[in-house]
Amino acid sequence: MKDAAYAAYGGYRCSCCGDMDEISLTIDHVANDGYAHREKVGTGVKLYRWLKREGYPAGFQILCMLCNWGKARNGGVCPHWSTPLLPEPQDRFRVSEVIS
Ligand SMILES: [Zn+2]
Ligand SMILES: [Zn+2]
Repeated sequence: MKDAAYAAYGGYRCSCCGDMDEISLTIDHVANDGYAHREKVGTGVKLYRWLKREGYPAGFQILCMLCNWGKARNGGVCPHWSTPLLPEPQDRFRVSEVIS
């Protein structure tokens, strides 16, 4: 369930800095409405299940904790974005084929 959700959003890799440390990665709400969404859907397995049921909708991305915090503290944009590390960030919203 977790593997499928991460695979759908690009695998175990931070979409911002490329960090591949699985334990520090989280599924982030691009639109920063995570709190309201968590209230509605839940976290962890509940979130993975919801994503699967919804067909892995756009609006989510994989972020490491550092980038997640950076984004929260920096008004929704990770500080990395002032000096982009990834050449083609537009690719990160593409939902790859669903692996179930
Ligand atoms: Zn990161
Ligand atoms: Zn970052």
